[in-house]
Amino acid sequence: MFSENQWIKIKAPATVANMVCGFDILGFAVNSPYDEMEMRWMTRAENEPSITIINIDNYNLPTDPEKNVAGAALLAFLEEYEEKQNSSSSSKIKFEVKINKLIKPGSGVGSSAASAAGAVVGANYLVGNIFSKDDLVRFAMNGEKLASGVKHADNIAPCIFGGVTLVRSIFPLEIIALPSPTLHVTIVHPQIEVRTSDARSILRQQVLLKDAIKQWGNIAGLVAGLMKSDYDLIGRSLEDVIIEPVRSILIPGFDALKLACKQAGALGGGISGSGPSIFMLSKTEEIAKAVEKEMHELYAGMNLPHHTYVTTINQKGVEIVADFI
Ligand code: ADP
Repeated sequence: MFSENQWIKIKAPATVANMVCGFDILGFAVNSPYDEMEMRWMTRAENEPSITIINIDNYNLPTDPEKNVAGAALLAFLEEYEEKQNSSSSSKIKFEVKINKLIKPGSGVGSSAASAAGAVVGANYLVGNIFSKDDLVRFAMNGEKLASGVKHADNIAPCIFGGVTLVRSIFPLEIIALPSPTLHVTIVHPQIEVRTSDARSILRQQVLLKDAIKQWGNIAGLVAGLMKSDYDLIGRSLEDVIIEPVRSILIPGFDALKLACKQAGALGGGISGSGPSIFMLSKTEEIAKAVEKEMHELYAGMNLPHHTYVTTINQKGVEIVADFI
C-alpha cells in the first residue's frame, strides 16, 4: 500500500470511441489532450465521507461524489475494496481527488472516461495494485453510466489499457488490446453542443442486412489492417454505413471536411464518439498537419470557432506520473 497522506499525480488521456465502423466496441487513446489529477488516501473515521472531490479547473463540475464520474467510479472501487478487506473498521479508507480538467466536457473525446479511469487507476496504485485492468474498467463504467445513462466501455477501455481496444463483450466483460502501427491523429472540436442523449436518440433501432454485412466487413478489415500494419486496408475499412449517415447531420460541414481531409492525404476518419469532434488518421505527421490546415480553413470559412489537436496514439493509457514524498 502506498504511504497514507502522500499525493500522487495522474495523467488520464483523451480517447476516440467507435473508430468509425466500430460503434460502441472500438476506441483508442491519444497523447493530447489529457486530464491531470492528484490523489491521496487516508484512514477514514466512522461517519466521514469516503470521497472528497476538489475541482481545480473552471468547468464547475459537481463535487458530490455521486454526481461526478470520478466519484461514481471510486464508490464502485471502494465497495469491492472493502469487501476484499473483510470490511473491518480499521481497514476503512477515504480518497481525496483533485481534478484539473484539460479535456473539455462534452467534446466527444472521452472527458468523462478520463476522470473515471484516472480515478480508479490512481486508487488502485494507492492500495497496492490489487485489482486487474478489467476490474478497473468495470468500476469506471459506473462513471459512464452517470454521464450518459449507459454502461459502455469504448472510451474507458482504451483510457485504461492504452492503444486501440476492442470491447468484444460488456456482460461478461471482455477487452482485447489490439496492436497498431504508428498512426498520426488530427482532431477538430467545433464549438457546438451535441448532447450524447440526442446523438443516441436519433439512431435507427433496425439495420438492413446489406448494411450490416458491409459494416462487419469493415470492422474485421480494420482489425486485420491494424494487426498487419496495412495502412491501405485501414483506410478502406474506415467506413461507417450505419451510424455516420444519421449522426453527421448534427455536425456542420461534416461531409466537406471529411472530403478535404482525405484529399490532403488522410487515411480516413469520422465522428469521435458521439461528436461534435471529428478525427482523422494519417500515416505521417506531415499529412496530419496538412489535414489540420484543411480543418482550420473549412471552419474559419464558416466562422465556426474550433480547436484542433495533432497527436499520436497513446500506448500507455492512464499513467502515474509523480509521487510527492
Ligand atoms: P465526453 O465525451 O466529453 O465524456 P459526455 O457527454 O459523455 O462527454 O460526458 C460529459 C457529462 O458528464 C457532462 O454532462 C458532465 O457534466 C458530466 N460529468 C460529471 N463528472 C464529470 C467529470 N469528472 N468529467 C467530465 N464530465 C463529467
